[in-house]
Amino acid sequence: MSLTKKILIALGLGVIVGLALTFVPENIFSPIDNYVLYPIGQIFINLIMMVVVPIVFVSIVLGSAGLGEPAKLGKIGIQTITFFLITTALALCISLALAYAIKPGAEGVFDVNTANYEASEAPPIMETIVNIIPTNPLSSMATGSMLQIIAFAIFIGVALAFLGDKTKGIYRLFEQANEILMLVVNFIMKTAPYGAFALIASAIGGAGLDAVGSMGAYMGTVILGLFVHAGITYSLAIWLLGRENPLRFYKGFFPAISVAFSTASSSATLPISMKTAQENLGVNKNISSFVQPLGATINMDGTAIMQATAAVFISQVYAIPLEFSDIIMIIITATLASIGTAGVPGVGLIMLAMVLTQIGLPVEGIALIIGIDRLLDMLRTSLNITGDATCAYIISENEKRKNIKTS
Ligand code: ASP
Repeated sequence: MSLTKKILIALGLGVIVGLALTFVPENIFSPIDNYVLYPIGQIFINLIMMVVVPIVFVSIVLGSAGLGEPAKLGKIGIQTITFFLITTALALCISLALAYAIKPGAEGVFDVNTANYEASEAPPIMETIVNIIPTNPLSSMATGSMLQIIAFAIFIGVALAFLGDKTKGIYRLFEQANEILMLVVNFIMKTAPYGAFALIASAIGGAGLDAVGSMGAYMGTVILGLFVHAGITYSLAIWLLGRENPLRFYKGFFPAISVAFSTASSSATLPISMKTAQENLGVNKNISSFVQPLGATINMDGTAIMQATAAVFISQVYAIPLEFSDIIMIIITATLASIGTAGVPGVGLIMLAMVLTQIGLPVEGIALIIGIDRLLDMLRTSLNITGDATCAYIISENEKRKNIKTS
């Protein structure tokens, strides 16, 4: 049986067992979760997290060295960032339109009086930009600061490209390290069905169905936004710019989507999303190595969709009308917030505080959505990594076509 089929069965079983677990009393659920589901799920997450930093470093060094001249790297960098920004803006327009059409916060009973949420300080944007350049690359690796690792790796990769034959030995070393890491990812992927099953059963069993209550309309609006963005924006991009059947693309990328769904972490999924894009979709290794790690760190359309929908939802619950200028502000701040969101579970919700503060909405509103956020996190993370793969695929296909023309 293929891995994709196994994961699909595991996801289905995870949902069924998770739903069944919502009916068992807490004193039975807790030990099952603590001693069976949690350890299995966490071991799977740890296994992939174990390879994230080395893979990001090694693959970006190889990717930027392999792209050759810095001008080409710069061109691909600009194409990547442009794609990320345009798709994020479209994601925000879709979610704002849906939130205004559906009005998820206009009706229903929401307990705003007891809603309480301590917002943690979002880092100032300038500081984030300055900090992209690491003062100590080893410490960036130790703490897993992705943007810093990416910046350092690009410098090393460009230097290797400049030095060419002189540093052939080190280049070969990086290539071999990459082969080793990819084989390790292969081993880890074999455990994916078990990990995905445990993570999903635990997430659904732990959240319970009562939490949904009056939040159904909000959840439905976010989920619809995610599907519309994948079904229209990405599908059109894959079809028109990548000249591929979107269904074939999604089918090929499914193993990565399912891992993103079960882990709710773009960073943790990165090794698998790169491998899946390279092997199942034929994305050029150098392009995948450059675009996908960058995307897993700064491109989060799913997160932007949640943040815009949540902002409108909260304004409706608290009956605070938004001006046109507020809507523009949501687009700007949600873009920045999704760029600043780390690819780990739940951070999108923390960054939502920044969006709400900017437009003067009560941050306590986050307390209303926190209980049901996990399921949305799983879905939006799947969209987040699909956006990165779509971009990598399109750029890779364009390069292939250009190469055919010139040769
Ligand atoms: N969990 C998301 C991700 O890793 C980020 C978020 O929206 O919380 O992509």
